[in-house]
Amino acid sequence: GKLVEGLTKTRNNIVSGIDSIFNGFSSIDDEFYDEIEEILIMGDLGINATTSIIEDLKEKVKANKIKDPAECKELLIESIKDEMNVGETAYEFEHRKSVILVIGVNGVGKTTSVGKLAGKLKDQGKKVVLAAADTFRAAAGEQLTQWANRAGVDIIGGQEGADPAAVVYDAVAASKARNADVLLCDTAGRLHNKKNLMEELKKIDRVLEREYPDAYRETLVVLDGTTGQNALAQAKQFKEAANITGIILTKLDGTAKGGIAIAIHSELGIPVKYIGVGETIDDLQKFNANDFVNALFD
Ligand code: GDP
Repeated sequence: GKLVEGLTKTRNNIVSGIDSIFNGFSSIDDEFYDEIEEILIMGDLGINATTSIIEDLKEKVKANKIKDPAECKELLIESIKDEMNVGETAYEFEHRKSVILVIGVNGVGKTTSVGKLAGKLKDQGKKVVLAAADTFRAAAGEQLTQWANRAGVDIIGGQEGADPAAVVYDAVAASKARNADVLLCDTAGRLHNKKNLMEELKKIDRVLEREYPDAYRETLVVLDGTTGQNALAQAKQFKEAANITGIILTKLDGTAKGGIAIAIHSELGIPVKYIGVGETIDDLQKFNANDFVNALFD
């Protein structure tokens, strides 16, 4: 399906190289492992994940008494899956009154992802209210309104330059009045001004603690998968500013840098919860490590 199709370039980037190693070596030696390591690092998996995957592969090869390099491929796939499986990812907002804050720098696909997520939750029978709390960027509210219409959900907006926490306050009131299941907040993620971002998020946090204390809370960071290691650096900075509970990794369709999904798990210890594989409302998928690795090696 869409995931297998979308990962074509990533697959070419990582798996073609690995296949040529598995078929090109006649014995399993240091050079063999070095070459696999190089492919994984070039494939944006990062040092941490790569080192850990190679160590695990070595152990599996030893434990299974494997002598033929061609037999290592299945073990490598298992090692990558093991590296990514940081436990079951929770989606509690699908079961309780919830508030999801979505943050991310301009251009990463934040508004699009909020729109897609609204559509997805609506399809699951949830009543969704959107808060257009990215009042920093003039077009953001308008763009989100289009998505709200597309998804068929309510939206609470604010004037450009309005206090985001005030928009969230209004949106909480609307969510309660309309008995919404999920309040989904688009917020401005101004990383170049981390102090402001932190203050803004703290203020929103105080409003939510006071006005909606029982709600289940999530803060998702949207990262652009095509930016590879830069996405990782961004995530690290956001992690310093907020209590991040998950990642939405966008634009995995058509990038060769999809290996970043594997790096994020090991570098940040934060689960990738959703991936974007296209521009339409249906192109947001729940992330599943097994499916991802299977699609990669399909
Ligand atoms: P924002 O500035 O972070 O809110 O970014 P937008 O939501 O406006 O998205 C920026 C561009 O990225 C738009 O052209 C989107 O259609 C595109 N985009 C967002 N997510 C995806 C995705 O998963 N795949 C592709 N191919 N494009 C995407």
